[in-house]
Amino acid sequence: MARLYLDAISKRFAGTDAVRAVTLDIADGEFLVLLGPSGCGKSTLLRLIAGLEEPTEGRILLDGTDISDEPPQRRDLAMVFQSYALYPHLTVEKNIGFPLRSRRQPQRTIAARVAEVAGVLGLRELLDRRPAALSGGQRQRVALARAMVRDPGAFLMDEPLSNLDAKLRSATRAELIALHRRLGATFVYVTHDQVEAMTMATRIALLNGGRIEQVGTPEELYDRPRSTFVAGFLGSPPMNLIDAEVRPHIDGLRVTAEGIDAALGIDAEEAIDSAISTRVIVGIRPERLRITRDISAIRGQVTMVENLGSEELIHVRVGDTVPGEANRPVVARAPRPAGVRVGEAIGFAVDPADIHLFDLATGLRLT
Ligand code: ATP
Repeated sequence: MARLYLDAISKRFAGTDAVRAVTLDIADGEFLVLLGPSGCGKSTLLRLIAGLEEPTEGRILLDGTDISDEPPQRRDLAMVFQSYALYPHLTVEKNIGFPLRSRRQPQRTIAARVAEVAGVLGLRELLDRRPAALSGGQRQRVALARAMVRDPGAFLMDEPLSNLDAKLRSATRAELIALHRRLGATFVYVTHDQVEAMTMATRIALLNGGRIEQVGTPEELYDRPRSTFVAGFLGSPPMNLIDAEVRPHIDGLRVTAEGIDAALGIDAEEAIDSAISTRVIVGIRPERLRITRDISAIRGQVTMVENLGSEELIHVRVGDTVPGEANRPVVARAPRPAGVRVGEAIGFAVDPADIHLFDLATGLRLT
């Protein structure tokens, strides 16, 4: 069992509020990903959980017990670092067994446990090697094995895949998902890579400036981002965000801007005072724009077509954009070949359900 509860935890370094009043309930057996841009405080938050940093304020509970003052080795948690932190002079076998030897476990217990964990992670053939004679992916597995050998309640991982090449990273992602299922343990995993977060997490906590911007399943964050920050962080390319106006119309509300005139759905009617015009930021995912020859919601001129192999990214200039991001094109994602050329006039249709509305001043979701 390992339920972690972060109770209004803050960490202040000289002059920097790295983590600001974060409250987070991590259920037993979850794969929680701490996601966010560089400097948002995700590593600091993980180190606070591990006991490698002391909180300035707040408490950390493990299964209801306050562990805020416990040293790292007294917490039932194992940390896997980006650098793996393996001992170069020790063999793989000795590296994996290290946490048990330092706890003075009997030799036979250590040997049996190391063999078991090495079997799970496919390391049996490598037990006599030293870290220098291993590939990046193998080192990563040794670091994981060393964390697993004690059978901790929770695994804390700080960007463990960032030293691997793209192919190995994607294979190791799949291994980690399988490992999480098999162990049933709680995983708290730090990354700035949205693909890792989307594919592995049972829930994502997206951090921004030391605060939690949104917590939820990958689908919740992707489909109903709470703010323009979340909308712009997840998705590649990210959600199109356009400065626009919501106006009452005889058939209901419409969102308009230069080159844009689209019907809104029931959600918008409930969220927005339909009697007056309101300035908003409208958000549309690139894959939700459909090229059409009929009357279109968005019209513009193709400025660039990017070939991704199976798909194309079509960049279109359509009048107004978000303030401060002048002339940023709207990007649509379409199966290749979409059959459009640079310079061509183009129109897109979009379903009312695929239009997100955000407050112009705060960036918070309106619908
Ligand atoms: P990255 O993805 O770049 O590792 P991060 O989201 O993990 O970033 P942190 O490493 O947690 O961010 O850092 C959060 C903030 O706290 C940053 O502004 C960083 O400069 C600051 N910080 C982190 N550790 C210390 C420290 N020991 N002393 C002073 N400031 C620190």
